[in-house]
This record gives sequence, structure tokens and C-alpha cells, in this order.
Amino acid sequence: MVSIPMRTRFRGITVREAALLEGPAGWGEWSPFLEYPAEVAEPWLRCAEEAAADDWPAPLRDRVPVNVTVPAVGPERAHEIVRAGGCRTAKVKVAEPGQTLADEVARLEAVRDALGPDGRIRVDANGGWSVDDAVAAIGRLDRAAGGLEYVEQPVASVEDLAVVRRRVDVPVAADESIRRAEDPYRVRDLAAADIAVLKVQPLGGVRACLEIAERIGLPVVVSSALETSVGIAAGVALAAALPELPYACGLATVQLLTADVVGEPLLPVDGALPVVRPMVDEGRLDALVAAPERVAHWEARLAAVRAVRKDRRP
Ligand SMILES: [Mg+2]
Repeated sequence: MVSIPMRTRFRGITVREAALLEGPAGWGEWSPFLEYPAEVAEPWLRCAEEAAADDWPAPLRDRVPVNVTVPAVGPERAHEIVRAGGCRTAKVKVAEPGQTLADEVARLEAVRDALGPDGRIRVDANGGWSVDDAVAAIGRLDRAAGGLEYVEQPVASVEDLAVVRRRVDVPVAADESIRRAEDPYRVRDLAAADIAVLKVQPLGGVRACLEIAERIGLPVVVSSALETSVGIAAGVALAAALPELPYACGLATVQLLTADVVGEPLLPVDGALPVVRPMVDEGRLDALVAAPERVAHWEARLAAVRAVRKDRRP
């Protein structure tokens, strides 16, 4: 179990904790966010177990285009992040508590300036707006960005997502409405989104996501859950195995961490990640091992997930 400081506060966290398990196929990462109860963390463990036990499906491509991720930072920092990222697509966090729409307009203008006219910009609100706020904000941010590729999860519920989609011209992507929903196919049934964001850990692994992608019938963007390169490799395996990959993926996030557990981290080269499974470096792993009380906490989480599984068995 490792503990890695983040470069910038993201998703409310400053340190990323991850459990790593080794099996015959290699290492798998189990890193459900700390507030997630055992029920929610269970599919995350399936993803790690799949990675450790099986080889993933055969790749159909050898590189996966990715976006640079811009947290809720000021415009100067946003500009720097995009320039340093070397990607042709940027994903920008919006609807951040404590910030105004003017802050977000400034951030998007800076991102457009850094990317140039040909780059693509998408925003992620993580369900932070009401329907009316979303409609107003999307119009303003679309103008500030000089055109948005899509807006990800502008509102929290799938019903509201369907309403927003009918009121704006910018395409809508569903993220939380798929991975945190009882029924991920409500997005399809309500025609609530144009794009499906799939994350391998919360959705139970590479094969589970391939099945969702087929049944949901929407173009897929594979995104990370802020994993180390071990976890990112599972996302890359999914992106590499999808029949179509029309959008850049949100898998270039290891640079949000100050360190990694592999010798050659999955960092973008010319805006794309190579389809490889990097080797864990035992020395790095040892250097990042968490304090004993954190290890004990994760062992208790693992036991809780196993108890959930036991209860489910008939
Ligand atoms: Mg998202």
C-alpha cells in the first residue's frame, strides 16, 4: 500500500493512497477514494484482481490520445499546465465550490490561449450545477473556450442530465451517471448523453467496461481515477481494446502525482500514451509505502469488501 502526495489539490485530495496486488499476469491497483464504503469499493477490487490474474483483451491500437487535465487553478497556472502537457486536448475542471463563473471563464480563456485554435477543450463539472446554472454556465464557458468539445456531468442526476442535454448545443458526457448509478443504462434509455465516460476501477475492470461500451451504444472516453501507472495501464488496456476511439482519453493523470511506482511512468508522448504495461519498480514501491496505521486502514477496507462479497453469495 502506497501513499503519494499530489502536485495540486484535485478532487479535494492532496495525498493519493493505493493498494497494489500482484498476481500471475502482473500488478493490479485497488485505489477507491477514502470516503467510499465497501459496497462502492467492491468493483474497484474486481478491476485490480482482473489485472493481476488475467491478460487483458488484445489491443487494437498501439497509442491512446489523451487530454491534459487542468484542475481548478488560476489562469496563469492553467496556461502553464496546458503548455507543459503537450496534448492537443485539455479537460478543465469547472463548477468548483468557492469559485465564480468569472474564475472559470478566465481559466478557459487561458487554456484556449495555451492550446491554440486547433486544440480541443472539454469541461468537467462533476455534477456541480443545477439545471439552470448549467445551461447559463455552458453557454458562457463555450464562448470563453472558443467552442467546447463537450461538457462532462454538468448536473448530478441522470434525469437532469437529459434535460440539460436538450437545452444546450454543446455535447454532454455522462461520468458519475454511469459509474455511480444503480443502472448505467438509464443514460442510454433517457438519451441523457452523447458520450460515455468509463473508468475501469469503479466499473469493475477492462472486460466489464468493454461490455458496458457495447451495450450503452455511445462513443466512449476512458478516464482515470487518479491512479498510479499500474492503475492507468488498465485504462489504457480498455482504450486500446475499444472498437472505436473518437476522443482523447482522460488517462494522462500520473503527472498529478509527485511520484510513481514504476520505472517508466505512463506519461504522454506527443499527446498520446503508449499501449504498454509498465513494470513496477520495487525500490520505488518501498520508498512510497504508507505509514503502518494507513496500511492497517486499507487492510480493514479490504476485509470489509470481502465481507460484502460473502453477504452477496446465496
Ligand atoms: Mg468526470
